[in-house]
Parts: sequence; structure tokens; C-alpha cells
Amino acid sequence: MKKTAIAAVIIVAAVFVAFLAYDGAVNKEYSSDFFVMNTYATAKLTGSKSKEAADEIRSLTETLDKGILSRTSENSVVSLLNVNGAGDAEKISDYLEILFDVCRKSGGAFDFTLGAVSDLWSFGSNPKLPDDSAIREALSHTGYEKLKLTENELVFGDKSAVIDFGAAGKGIALDEIKAVLFEKKIKQAVVSVGGSVLLMGDKEFTVGIRNPEGNSGSYIAKLHIPEGCVSTSGSYEQQFEANGRKYHHILDPETGYPVDNGLLSVTIISQSGILSDALSTACFVLGYEKGKALAEAYDCGVVFVADDKKIYAENGAENFIEITDDAYTLVMQ
Ligand code: ADP
Ligand code: MG
Repeated sequence: MKKTAIAAVIIVAAVFVAFLAYDGAVNKEYSSDFFVMNTYATAKLTGSKSKEAADEIRSLTETLDKGILSRTSENSVVSLLNVNGAGDAEKISDYLEILFDVCRKSGGAFDFTLGAVSDLWSFGSNPKLPDDSAIREALSHTGYEKLKLTENELVFGDKSAVIDFGAAGKGIALDEIKAVLFEKKIKQAVVSVGGSVLLMGDKEFTVGIRNPEGNSGSYIAKLHIPEGCVSTSGSYEQQFEANGRKYHHILDPETGYPVDNGLLSVTIISQSGILSDALSTACFVLGYEKGKALAEAYDCGVVFVADDKKIYAENGAENFIEITDDAYTLVMQ
């Protein structure tokens, strides 16, 4: 080979190696798992600052939980508001505005003031069947209409009302995480916090819908979707048995008891984390017909899984769904 040809080969090889090194640095993949908000979280990130972003996500969600939303951490904003109204409501006013709206649009099926009732059920720790009289007493201190959000204050019309972000906290975490991912110029991300998942990047993602009667690794359907947020609320979460009956943690605000309407899970697809989480709970409580209308009002895709093994995919979700378990049927309306 001529000298010039050899030189050319060497240059091409060097450029190729440099490209690989550059690509490796820009598309560094990093995965991490952690426990936050009483559940498991995972982050799989691609970008030059993927490790930094994963570390930041972890500390951010811990601070969001312990410092702001948690009801078990004494000095969180929510705990202080619940004890004597002394928490700094401004820190959560953006979230509260959205949640008040979901309360109103769902006709009260979603209600973030059910804290006194969910405390009685002790979900998340040692669930038990409360006394009926205790439920009725706690119910008298619920109702989002009793609270008012002013510019910098959350005014409790009933001092015994207890606010609870249990149905929306994981979605809020996803929205805060999204801001970190943008800031760190992450190219692709799949981040899950419990049953809520954030998908970011220019590709088609696959998200499984859990088998409500199987273990956590078993799925009945897949959603093939572009970037966004997907949250599932299921009656299989935090389920327990008492007196031969099964109870779960999604409550009917009218009765104070777990919703019993034939649904096993509801999945919402939205660009907003907080909406995907809150609406999955709201649509579960509302049931198929009214839940479908609520998802439409927010322009979100929705998938209902019913206990007769029928699956309803609505408002765009029908274009993304693939049923993977023969025992279940997709009902086309
Ligand atoms: P998960 O916590 O498993 O993601 P959800 O998002 O459906 O499930 O939230 C359930 C939690 O929300 C309950 O543990 C309780 O704290 C609270 N909750 C229960 N019923 C309601 C309701 N009707 N409206 C608002 N919050 C609720
Ligand atoms: Mg929810």
C-alpha cells in the first residue's frame, strides 16, 4: 500500500474511534433503583450527564417526599398544614390548584382531603378494617369544598380536615424529575415511581399493564407509546383481607370504604405526571362511563381493566394497546 493510502486508513480509523468515544460519552447509559414515597423507584437515563441526573433525581424525590408531601414526616409542608395550618402552602400551591380542579371536575370522586379516613385504614403500614362509626366520624371532616386556596394560604374551613397527596405524589415527582432531565440534557429516560412512569425521548416506548391478579412481574397488555407519563391505580395495591373480604386503598369519598365497582385497574396516559396519577385514581372511583368522560375532559388516554376480564381503551389509548394475555378481551365500542 502506498504511504498516502496507509495515512488515509489511519485517519479514517482514528476518526471512527474518536466518534465511538464521543458517542459513548454523549449516550452514557446509567440505571439506578431506590426506595422513595413508600415505594420502589427506577431510573434509566441516557445522556452525557446520566449519572449526575440520576443522583439528583434521587435526592430531589427524597426532599419532595420528606420535606413537602409526606404525612409521616413531622416537618413536611403537608404535615404542618394538617397539624395547625402552619405549613408554607405557597410551596404546594401549583399542585393544589390542579388537584382542586380534579376534585371539582370529578364531582368529588377524587378528594385530597380524605386523610382522616385513610388514616383509619392504615394503608401503607398495617392495614385494618376500621369501625363503621369511626369511618362516619372521620368522613364528617372530609370535603375539598371546606378548604380554600388563597394567594399564599390554604385555609381550612374544618380544622380537623387532613390533606393527603397519596393519590398524586408520585405523579408530582415525575413532573419535578422531568425538569431535572431537561436541565441535564438527558436524551432518553424511563423513570418509574411506584405505578407512575415518565417516558422521555424521541422513540416509541413500551409500558406493561400489570396483571391485577398476578404478581408484579406479570402483564396482561402493553402500551406502545411516544413520550409522556403513564400512571396506573389498581385495587391489587395494598390489598388486605378481613372477615373473608378483600379491601384495597382507593376510597369512595361518599362512604369512606374501598370502591367496589367491578374495576381492577385504571391507567392514564398524559403529558402531565400529576394529572396521570390523580386521574388514574379519580377514574377508578368514577367507574367506566364517568371515568371515560373525565379522561376526555382532560384529553388523556385511559385504559380500564374490569373484573370480568374485559379491557376498555379509550380516548386514543385504543391506538397504543396490545393485549398480551388471552384471558382478557379488548372491548371495542
Ligand atoms: P398508588 O398510591 O398505589 O399509586 P393511587 O394513586 O390510586 O395509588 O393513590 C391511592 C392513595 O390515594 C390512597 O392510599 C389514599 O392515600 C389516597 N386516596 C384514596 N382514595 C382517594 C380518593 N378517592 N381521592 C383522592 N385520594 C384518595
Ligand atoms: Mg393516583
